[in-house]
Amino acid sequence: MKRVAILGSTGSVGVQALDVVSRFPGRFEVLGIAANRNAERVIEQVRRFRPRLVAMADAASARAVRAAVPPGTQVLDGDAGVSALAAHPDVDFVLAAISGGAGLRSTAAAIEAGKAVGLANKESMVLAGELLMGRAVARGVSILPVDSEHSAIYQSLAGHNRAEVRRLILTASGGPLRGVAAAELPGVTRERALKHPNWSMGDKITIDSATLMNKGLEVIEARWLFGVEPSRIDIVVHPESVVHSMVEYIDGSMVAQLGVSDMRGPISYAMAHPERLPLDLAPLDLLRLGRLTFEPPDPERFPAFTLAYRALERGGTSPAVLSGADEAAVAAFLDGRCRFTDIADVCADVLEAHAAEPLRSVEQALSASDEGRRQAERRVARTAHGPAAR
Ligand code: NDP
Repeated sequence: MKRVAILGSTGSVGVQALDVVSRFPGRFEVLGIAANRNAERVIEQVRRFRPRLVAMADAASARAVRAAVPPGTQVLDGDAGVSALAAHPDVDFVLAAISGGAGLRSTAAAIEAGKAVGLANKESMVLAGELLMGRAVARGVSILPVDSEHSAIYQSLAGHNRAEVRRLILTASGGPLRGVAAAELPGVTRERALKHPNWSMGDKITIDSATLMNKGLEVIEARWLFGVEPSRIDIVVHPESVVHSMVEYIDGSMVAQLGVSDMRGPISYAMAHPERLPLDLAPLDLLRLGRLTFEPPDPERFPAFTLAYRALERGGTSPAVLSGADEAAVAAFLDGRCRFTDIADVCADVLEAHAAEPLRSVEQALSASDEGRRQAERRVARTAHGPAAR
């Protein structure tokens, strides 16, 4: 029985992780769950999964949960409460599925406490990948990627010699706006950008998928998770989202992982590692699919992914600043305060204006991300396209 803590239990990944748990009751015990404000869903989850510990980042939501759960359930609050759950001595495995930079402290706490981590929160790696990987090695901790592309690469590397890797190839679905002409992009609505063709995910990552910033963030994540230089990490648009990513070896062979677009695949792989669970998902029917297509990403229409390479080149605090700027710009787009195309423009501006510093601590990474957020807010206010963007 693996005792798991699910951080971000009310989100898209968290809910699917609990679904995996409910399908394998003898395998996992939910020791704790954490979220921010969604007290209602957390209370439901406590009734169903009976965790001993709950952490709510928001103090008022923690009070609401405390009032509604059985007396034996300990309810922690604040960021410190979420990190305490991640580091709890009885936890064997932490699923880090909080969205945004808010997930970094608890990921770091889990690693420091020597827990195996299933990492969905890509921002942890984007903000402080080099530091976290260093600590994971020092603590002998395994980090199992949950992002489907990184899970695919992890699986494609298994049993191979890392020194023989030529390059990593991340596949991208191209997102909801793949075929949209450049002239139409500024007028794209929130609703249209949120309609992902293949994956059902939270709002932030769906918009990142539409701008291709998500793929850029994944390049940064891959750079640190797998220790591969950015010049050896490529992006290929693959609209069917069947090949989840690939590794090319020095003899020209490519090893890929294929599957249906269902996050329960990579989530269960990380949770059960080194075993696989008999998941009852619709099988991948290659004959019905007939063919798989690949095309290069278009940096003219979707420049956001190029910013990630730029941030890696500048190094230090730059990826954290880019991530913070993107969070603010995406939030502004979702509230109708800027246009779709402003997201990449604002991020590019913030990144260019930032003087990178060497990264020394998680706190520094978080403050760089906050700085990116603030600078992006300023630029969004100046852009002031307002509701016309809707
Ligand atoms: P969602 O927006 O659906 O959920 C976010 C979760 O994080 C919620 O449980 C939310 O709680 C919680 N949360 C937000 N802020 C805090 C905080 N300060 N403290 C504690 N909990 C917090 O996100 P997703 O599930 O889509 O994504 C989660 C992460 O996984 C992201 O980093 C994303 O990039 C990554 N990812 C997601 C994929 C997907 O398929 N969705 C695929 C690959 C990676 P509350 O509900 O209370 O606000």
